[in-house]
Amino acid sequence: MEKDPVCGMDVDPKTALNAVHEGRSYYFCSPGCKKQFEENPTQYAKA
Ligand SMILES: [Zn+2]
Repeated sequence: MEKDPVCGMDVDPKTALNAVHEGRSYYFCSPGCKKQFEENPTQYAKA
């Protein structure tokens, strides 16, 4: 399982929405979380 960085929910990478930021993949439970991440990725991305 991966963690949705926006809301903290566990998500299944096989079915979740994903976005790539600086070479790392992030997974989201919903389009809303993905959108929020894409609007401000540095706030949610892991160092
Ligand atoms: Zn979420």
